Amino acid sequence: MGYSMRFTAVERQPLPPFWGSNPASRTSKSAVRQEILAESISCLGLGLIGRNSLPFNFILWTLHPYHIVMHIESTDCLIVIDVQNDFCPGGALEVPHGDEVVPVINSLLGKFAHEVMTQDWHPADHFSFASNHPGKSPFETTELDYGEQVLWPDHCVQGSYGAEFHPELKTTGAEMSLRKGYMKNIDSYSAFYENDRKTPTGLTGYLNSRGFQRVFLTGLATDFCVGYSAIDAAREGFEVYVIEDACRAIDLDGSLDRSKQDMHNAGVHMIDSTAL
Ligand SMILES: [Zn+2]
Repeated sequence: MGYSMRFTAVERQPLPPFWGSNPASRTSKSAVRQEILAESISCLGLGLIGRNSLPFNFILWTLHPYHIVMHIESTDCLIVIDVQNDFCPGGALEVPHGDEVVPVINSLLGKFAHEVMTQDWHPADHFSFASNHPGKSPFETTELDYGEQVLWPDHCVQGSYGAEFHPELKTTGAEMSLRKGYMKNIDSYSAFYENDRKTPTGLTGYLNSRGFQRVFLTGLATDFCVGYSAIDAAREGFEVYVIEDACRAIDLDGSLDRSKQDMHNAGVHMIDSTAL
């Protein structure tokens, strides 16, 4: 698939009052600009000045006359990964601040013409549950036929409240809801492939037959189901964007850093929702 970036440069905006002293006072455009340059500067090891300090923001504003806005196309699809009660605070496999993705995703749902949602959907005797491995505790690992598997607390059991979408997530506009992880002997982090990395869920065929070219991923958790889905989507030839502020991570033993590196290596783009 040909690679194309559909960006529009927008002229520099005037510096708003108190810009930089209060993140909420910044415009979304300036926030985008700040993120882009903050990443660049932190990469250069120049993070000596606080990101929200006035001098830092002034430097960014001075140096960077343009920022990036992406236009959403009819061939774009927003994919919402596993925003389910069990992954939100109070749930069986709570992702810290997982519920904070809901308003961000809801605001995006109105911008995309096409949306797909996924649900982790396990039988009660699922092999990914520590409770089904005597002597094992949640978050330990075990060897299954397809390799190492993290053992989780029982979560997203089919038909349970925990498996339902977060009650405030707007789901009515979704064109498809895909369930995964329903086979007893195999887990499925990715929305595209089970954890043996060979058994497809069918999502690639669906997206291709609908003519989608770019996918924008949101949801839970950044370093597991979102990350695996993003890498598989890139592998399947889609142009992939992970909307970072519409995701939250579990971050188990450095898993977030590893996932970000793997996504970067796979050619996945990380963006902020303010770029859309
Ligand atoms: Zn699961």
